[in-house]
Amino acid sequence: MLIHFQAMSLPNVEISRRAAKRIRSGHVWVYRSDLRSSEAEKGDIVRVVSRHGSGGTNELGVAFYNPESLISLRLIDRQVHELNREFWAARFRQAIENRKELPDIEDMARLVFGEADCIPGLIVDRYGDVLVIQTGCAGSDHRIDLWIDILEELLSPAAIAERNDSSTRRLERLESRCGVLRGRVDGPVEVREGGLRQLVDPLSGQKTGAYLDQRENRLRSAEYARGRCLDVFSYQGGFALQLARGGAGEVLCVDQSERALEAARAAARLNGLTVSCQTANAFDFLRELQGAGERFDVICLDPPAFAKNRKSVERAERGYKEINLRAIKLLRSGGVLITSSCSYHMLEPQFENLLREAGQDGGRTLQVLERRSQSRDHPVRLGFPESRYLKCFVLRVI
Ligand code: SAH
Repeated sequence: MLIHFQAMSLPNVEISRRAAKRIRSGHVWVYRSDLRSSEAEKGDIVRVVSRHGSGGTNELGVAFYNPESLISLRLIDRQVHELNREFWAARFRQAIENRKELPDIEDMARLVFGEADCIPGLIVDRYGDVLVIQTGCAGSDHRIDLWIDILEELLSPAAIAERNDSSTRRLERLESRCGVLRGRVDGPVEVREGGLRQLVDPLSGQKTGAYLDQRENRLRSAEYARGRCLDVFSYQGGFALQLARGGAGEVLCVDQSERALEAARAAARLNGLTVSCQTANAFDFLRELQGAGERFDVICLDPPAFAKNRKSVERAERGYKEINLRAIKLLRSGGVLITSSCSYHMLEPQFENLLREAGQDGGRTLQVLERRSQSRDHPVRLGFPESRYLKCFVLRVI
């Protein structure tokens, strides 16, 4: 009875009854304030238990443990059992299999989206034959070697790189790291999105090289392309290129990163498309465009997460409101605004409300053409609202 023995050998972590209820309703995180007792160490896989009224204990599942993080437990499975290599390989196979139907899946895709794919704290992105991984919690960080072996076995990539330089690792008290773990990465990788050629740099681009979560929204934007289009917070011109492909007369990108715009120009050249680029602070630039009486037919707004936590939501709201109000004023009657918020803390009703206010303040009527979210390779796990973070409204401004 090896399985039984190994399951028994897991250290116990006891949580509050309130947290146990949350876990039973589908959530997968337990906060530090809900820990009651622990026999475990940072990065361990533990058995999660809670005490019921009569004094006995309930088993809630197995989880990664990190007492140094506010999110101290991340549930891996509701059954307590052995988590061997085959267990993890099956989870990876399933995540990859689930994405088989998606377009461009061989070119670029998120293959593993952490908790939503039941592999807590792990991101795996594919750019052609290069994989880029991020381990965002102590438990996943400790298992990086095993998981890389599994990924090599399943996908035989030319290279695997890690982008463990995101600031969220500080919340787990994990050091910042970035580099190639297997194989070689020789500069940017060429991939396709909706038939367009793009260059992604897994080692020095933003995130793991690209904003994969907006892929389906970028492709969709091509259907609204016409006349004069503006892509604000453009990064490497993802929306702009699709708008140009879709038949826009003129497309302008704005970003504060000169490097990102250099990549946007290169991609436009690769595809024989014309896109103009402006390095600027988007807030200032939108104000200037408004002052100059400029008008557009389509505007995309895709700012970084202005609200990184609950406390900063109010300030973030002002930022979102300002850019949306300015964009609304810059649109011709009948124009289309494709506006996103990737802050989890800005919930969809709140975002919708500030868009309504911006419409009111701008003296315009807004029609909702579409309410969109993140691409399907970033699935939303029901019961775990943190997995739904991207909101994207397509609005007609009249
Ligand atoms: N739309 C892009 C992703 C945008 S990510 C895509 O689909 O690929 C947000 C971008 O905003 C980043 O490129 C960042 O450089 C830029 N940025 C952040 N703050 C900015 C500011 N105040 N003004 C202009 N650009 C900004």
